[in-house]
Amino acid sequence: MTIELRSDTFTKPTPAMLEAMFSAEVGDDVFEDDPTVIALEQKTAKMFGYEAGLFCTSGTMTNQIAINVHVKQGDEVICDALSHIYLYEGGGISANSMASVNLLQGNRGRLTASQIKEVIQPDNIHHPISALISLENTVNKGGGAYYQLTDIQEIKKLCLENNIPLHLDGARIFNALVETQESPLEYGKLFDSISVCLSKGLGTPIGSVLLGTKDFIKKARRVRKRLGGGWRQAGYLAAAGIYALDNNIERLKEDHTRARIIGETMAKLPAVEEILPVDTNIVIFRLNDKILSSDYVQQLNEKGIRAATFGKHLVRFVTHLDFTDEHLEAFQKRVL
Ligand SMILES: *Cc1c(COP(=O)(O)O)cnc(C)c1O
Repeated sequence: MTIELRSDTFTKPTPAMLEAMFSAEVGDDVFEDDPTVIALEQKTAKMFGYEAGLFCTSGTMTNQIAINVHVKQGDEVICDALSHIYLYEGGGISANSMASVNLLQGNRGRLTASQIKEVIQPDNIHHPISALISLENTVNKGGGAYYQLTDIQEIKKLCLENNIPLHLDGARIFNALVETQESPLEYGKLFDSISVCLSKGLGTPIGSVLLGTKDFIKKARRVRKRLGGGWRQAGYLAAAGIYALDNNIERLKEDHTRARIIGETMAKLPAVEEILPVDTNIVIFRLNDKILSSDYVQQLNEKGIRAATFGKHLVRFVTHLDFTDEHLEAFQKRVL
C-alpha cells in the first residue's frame, strides 16, 4: 500500500461521486447551456453570498482570470512573497496581464493591513498603480496557516479607503473555515473575488470556481474563453463539485487531525530539525543541514511514502480524503 502525501490533489473520485458524475444532465457550457455547471456556479456563489460564479479547469485559471479582470497593463498586484499566484502560476501575472508584483514578507504568508498600507503607491506618474491586493487562505507555502477574520476586515477597510479590489486565492478556503467555524458568507462580504478549488481537499478530479458580481463574472467568462478555457459538457465535472460541496467539507477536520499526528510523529525523528505549526492539512518540516530534502524524499519513497520537496531542506506532506486512519497507522510504523 502506497501512502500518498505529496498533495491533496491526488484523490480519486469515490463510487458515490462517480455515480453523481455519470448521471449528470449536461449541455454546452460555452453557450451557458449546461444545467449542472449552472447549478454548481449558483450553489457556490450562494454559499459565499455572491451574485455569480464561473467554473474553470484549475485554480491557476481562476486566479489568473481574476487578476486579468482586476488589473491593467503596467499596474501592480500586492501580495505575499509566498503566494501561489506569484510562485506557482508560471509567471502568469506578467505573462497574462502584463502587471508587476509588489511582494511583501508576511507571517507564514499572511499579510497585515499595516504592512500593505506602507506599500500602496501614491498617485504619482512615477509609480505603477496598486490595482489589486491578493490574499491566500490557507497559505500553501506557509504550511496551511490561516487568517483571523479580523485581520482580513482591517485589510478590507484599507482597500475601501484606497479603492483597491481585494482577491482571495481560496484554494483551501474550506480548510480554514472548518477550523475557525466561520461562515463562507463572512468571506463573501470581504472579497471582490474568490477562487475556490474543488480538486484539493474536497476531492473532485478537476475544477475551481471563481466568484464575484455578475458584471465581474461576465468579464471573467470572456477571459476564460480567450485563454481556451471555454468547455462544453463540463457538467460531468461540475456534478462532482456539487457532490463535494454537499459531502466533503465537514470531513476536512479529519485531515487536520491526521496532519497534526503526522507532525507529532515527525518531531520524534533525529533527522527532523523543525516542524512548522500544523494548523490545517499541511505539514512542512525542516531537515537538519546535512540532509537534502531530495534524498530524504527518496528514502521515504523506498518505504512507500510519497512526499514533496519544498526547499533544499524542507519537505511537505498534505493529508486528504484518500488518507485514512489505516494509512496513518502504516505511516507511523514505516517512519519510526
Ligand atoms: C493548488 C493551488 C492553486 C491552484 O492550483 P491548480 O493546480 O491550478 O488547480 C492555487 N492556489 C493555491 C494556494 C494552491 O495550493
